[in-house]
Amino acid sequence: MSDNCIFCKIAAGEIPSRMVYQDDQVVAFEDLNPQAPHHILLVPRKHIRTTLDLTTADNELIGHIHQVAGRIAHDLEFAEDGFRLVNNCNEGAGQSVWHIHFHLLGGRDLTWPPG
Ligand code: 5GP
Ligand code: ZN
Repeated sequence: MSDNCIFCKIAAGEIPSRMVYQDDQVVAFEDLNPQAPHHILLVPRKHIRTTLDLTTADNELIGHIHQVAGRIAHDLEFAEDGFRLVNNCNEGAGQSVWHIHFHLLGGRDLTWPPG
């Protein structure tokens, strides 16, 4: 838990969110400013600042998050139509919260490249 980190506080239940999944390693909740009909953030409970701060010890965690994302898309019935799992790393890519997270987007046509 990092002080003044909004995602640590959401994971700890100190800030309310529309939680769709949680276990001992990860929480998943609806994005406050959705960019698609389904826009869910997957956030590890462990405070990791960016993708560049990952170590080998996090390999299983990141794999787990990807599996959970697929399961959520399946359970909410948008997996078959296609979904996107995105990590923005650093300001130039749009990162605004400095606790690693993955955007799960679905429920509409997703253009490629994203821009
Ligand atoms: P980033 O820009 O860092 O890739 O993504 C941060 C995301 O967090 C944004 O899509 C933003 O809407 C979302 N967000 C920021 N603060 C909150 C919050 O307090 N609650 C929720 N549910 N989402 C948030
Ligand atoms: Zn944090």
